[in-house]
Amino acid sequence: MIQDIAPHIYHNEYHPSAPAEDSYLLCYQEGKILLRQKEPEGEISFPRFRELKEKEEHAGELIYLFTIDEDRFYLLGSAEENDFPGCSFQEIRSLRLVHPQYLAFAGITGYQLFRWYESRRYCGCCGAPMAHSRTERQMYCPACGHYEYPVLSPAVIVGITNGDRLVMSKYEGRAFTNYALIAGYAEIGETIEDTVRREVMEEVGLRVKNIRYYKSQPWSFSGTLLFGFFCDVDGDDTLTVDHSELAMAEWFHRSEIRGQGNSSSLTNEMMLVFAEGKEPR
Ligand SMILES: [Zn+2]
Repeated sequence: MIQDIAPHIYHNEYHPSAPAEDSYLLCYQEGKILLRQKEPEGEISFPRFRELKEKEEHAGELIYLFTIDEDRFYLLGSAEENDFPGCSFQEIRSLRLVHPQYLAFAGITGYQLFRWYESRRYCGCCGAPMAHSRTERQMYCPACGHYEYPVLSPAVIVGITNGDRLVMSKYEGRAFTNYALIAGYAEIGETIEDTVRREVMEEVGLRVKNIRYYKSQPWSFSGTLLFGFFCDVDGDDTLTVDHSELAMAEWFHRSEIRGQGNSSSLTNEMMLVFAEGKEPR
């Protein structure tokens, strides 16, 4: 999956420090990221601090993000393509299909941090400019004391099973035409298991039992932390599809389920695990 970058190790402890010459710079613009791509292999890299013009002047504007192995990654507020020869802005989603995977993961994860920093430049309470905490990943308002931590939106992906069958669906009105599992965001005041029960009832009208956790996945494209669960239908297995959300949903036998060409998503892994009969029971 997207976050599986072994043998590389992601360190997100907040230890801001000055960039090294080799540190990576991540720069985003309207759903795009600045990167260097070698064709035709698709191998990517990012600009390094040493390539930054007038870097001593700009060093203070960089925001420390995280470290992978020994490499530090910084957010560069603004850059033009011609600031870094050989680099161009590419769609963030294209990072699902490139390698090395640990750099793709860095670009995707940095995007979530970028969006958070971008949307926290001014205080939501009093409108004054926000400042960076020196000790933790926090933005605070010097004027009124309001502070904010990075925001994650928890959501569930649910494999509803009935013996050898699994519910798969397709979203209504989306270009994405692969099969999906039932999914949805947690609401305030409910447990993540309640989210499973509510989303399944809302989208396909089933009661479920034996809810068992499978795995989680950070999905930074949408600022989400996904929790994958399997569960069993409880009673009547007739699907009542909410067509405002889903184009279709049906029961599929294990033998009918195929991978969807891209192994980076938790949804795809859960489908494959079920197809092989290896889901948690
Ligand atoms: Zn304020």
